[in-house]
Amino acid sequence: MKCPFCGIDDDKVIDSRPAEDGNTVRRRRECLHCGRRWSTREAEEMAPLIVIKKDKSRQPFDRRKLIAGIMKSCEKRPVSLEAIEQIVDHIERSEIHQISREISTAEIGEAVLKHLRSIDEVAYIRFMSVYREFSDVASFLNELESLKHGEGI
Ligand SMILES: [Zn+2]
Repeated sequence: MKCPFCGIDDDKVIDSRPAEDGNTVRRRRECLHCGRRWSTREAEEMAPLIVIKKDKSRQPFDRRKLIAGIMKSCEKRPVSLEAIEQIVDHIERSEIHQISREISTAEIGEAVLKHLRSIDEVAYIRFMSVYREFSDVASFLNELESLKHGEGI
């Protein structure tokens, strides 16, 4: 960051703590060129979310891919793109994953289902049938049955 006094971009952070609002970080910086100090208030940069796949390999969370997947389930259903983006936002910012910044594909799937269920039942069932890869018809029907009775998730 450029020093506000001498304009040279050569500083170090000497202190870093959460600001009172909880959403920003207050950093005390020192210019290594002129030695003067100043403070900045910066939005806390979230580390990227890492997705743990079934085979335990890891890849960065792909927001667009998840949105596309949910959209597919919502085809011709009265679900807005905004609602879908909100589901994805919610998963991305979920506090459960704030520390490890890791989430399994199973957790993502369950989270999507939980949200979809309250938005559109048809989209919910479509997503579930793709995501859970029901091994047999019986378990799928079971799930439908529990949906009818308002049980389950
Ligand atoms: Zn300076």
